[in-house]
Formats: sequence, C-alpha cells, structure tokens
Amino acid sequence: MVDGLDEAELARRIRTKTLTDLKGIGPKTAAAIVQAARGEVPEYLATLEHAYAEQLPAADDVAAFRGALRGDLHAHSDWSDGGSPIREMAEAAIALGHEYLALTDHSPRLTVANGLSPERLEKQLDVVAQLNEELDPFRILTGIECDITIDGSLDQTDELLGRLDVVVASVHSDLRAERSAMTQRMLAAVANPHTDVLGHCTGRLLIPREQRNGKRQRPRPESEFDAEAVFTACVEHGTAVEINSRPERLDPPLRLLALAVELGCEFAIDTDAHAPGQLDWQYNGCERAIECGVDVDRVVNSWPLDDLLAWTGR
Ligand SMILES: [Zn+2]
Ligand SMILES: [Zn+2]
Repeated sequence: MVDGLDEAELARRIRTKTLTDLKGIGPKTAAAIVQAARGEVPEYLATLEHAYAEQLPAADDVAAFRGALRGDLHAHSDWSDGGSPIREMAEAAIALGHEYLALTDHSPRLTVANGLSPERLEKQLDVVAQLNEELDPFRILTGIECDITIDGSLDQTDELLGRLDVVVASVHSDLRAERSAMTQRMLAAVANPHTDVLGHCTGRLLIPREQRNGKRQRPRPESEFDAEAVFTACVEHGTAVEINSRPERLDPPLRLLALAVELGCEFAIDTDAHAPGQLDWQYNGCERAIECGVDVDRVVNSWPLDDLLAWTGR
C-alpha cells in the first residue's frame, strides 16, 4: 500500500493527514503508518502481539526458566492501586507454585495510586504478620514500591524502610526530566542502602492503559538516563535490576537488558501484578531474560527464601 509512495510523498501525506485518501488505507492503518514513521511500534500491532502472546503455550526453555523462579518481588493489593485483598494475591501466588510474594504497595507521594502513609504501612505489617501465620510455609514478604523523589531520596521513613523485607524503588514522576538530572536521581536511589530492586527503569508504556481513577494513560517513550552509569551502580551497591513483565511495560527494553547483563547486574523478574491473574505474567520477563542471556542464578527471585532474605537484609 504505502510501498508505492516515495518518502517525500509519504511525509507530505503524514503532515497533511491525507493518508486515508489513499485506496485501502483506513484510519487504523494510517495511525500505524504515522507511528511507524516516528520509530514507534504501532499501537494496534503491539496490542495484537500481546493478545497472541497470551494464547501461545510457553516454549520449553521459557517454561524451564519460569519453573526456576520461587517467587515474585513486586505486586500490589487493594491497599494501594491493586484490585484485590492481600490474601487473594497470596493464594494466587501459592496456586502458581510460588514460595514467596513480596507485597509492594505504593508509597505516600503517589496519591493517584492511594500510596500508603507510614501509619497505613504499619497497619499493613500487622495484617501480613497475621496472614503469614495462617499461610505458613508460604511467606508474604513485607515490602514497598517506593517512589524515587526528584532529589533521589526514597518516599518513606528510614525506620519503616529498614523494617521491610523488600524495597523496590521506582521513578513515577517527572519522567521527561533531562538526562543528567534523571541519572543523578536514579544513582542516588540505587545507592540507598534500603533499595533492593530498581523498578521498571525506563518508565516506558508501550500501549495505552487505564489508571485507577479511570484516566487513560497514553503510551510514552523511555526516560533518558545514563544506563551504563546506573547499571554499574546497581552492581556496585547490590541492587537488582527489575525485569518488569507487565505487557505495557516490558521494561527494560532489550538493548538495555543486554547492557545490564554485560555489566554483571543481578535481576528480579517481577510481574508488578495489580490483580491475582497477573501474577502469571512472569513468562514475559523470562522470555526476555533468555533472549538477553540472563543466567538464572543471577535472578534473585530464583533463590531460596533464606538466601533472598540474607541478600535484602545485608
Ligand atoms: Zn511502578
Ligand atoms: Zn508497581
């Protein structure tokens, strides 16, 4: 269809929004052409890919890699912006054969996601302790997905962060910050002794999604930062780089994941689940880990619970 057009003509039609005047090009195709011309994966193609990916059985190597994982270090409950009670998330994890699940609801600043104040987090710790007695030997790890604030500090009290089993630190604001500012901010968070995992490092969104408040978020590009400096700091400070398995994130992108492998990082393959069914998304992350040559021993959530806790508590 557009193969017959030369580049200048294609550019002119994109600019003047006249692609749909061409025979056989409807609004969807036109939108895809415009996105492809910008170097993006067309939205509807990305949606299709994800729809099919969920229907196909996992390849043997992916299934084996997934089988080596003992738990998940990033999940939300209805205490923040997840849709289900803690118990239902834990029961779903048990059904998947997991030995542990880190409950990482959002931190106070993320009001749009109903982030937990210090008081609410304290209460949650009591609830988790109670559930752990009932669900033993399964273990809900206490945790947080802590906002990395603009100055690189973490959005929760030191005292509470020190009591949690797992701290995932993520950037959720000012995602379009200038490269050096974003790098400094991430370096500070990675070096923080409380931080165990650097969550969804680029913040990209591949396909649109609905937020808890019903607002629709549009796809967005990666944040800009010096990935080599940040991943090197992760190695230095023993912070794992998250391989986020959410279909709309798949973060880090493969080229950055390959860089992190090359630099010697450790990884956490997480689902960032906001509902019980989403805990099954780890296959996405495993597939990408295999593609980039991640050694399963470098994946901290393949480790037995005691080893994992010795690592996070170090
Ligand atoms: Zn997040
Ligand atoms: Zn999250």
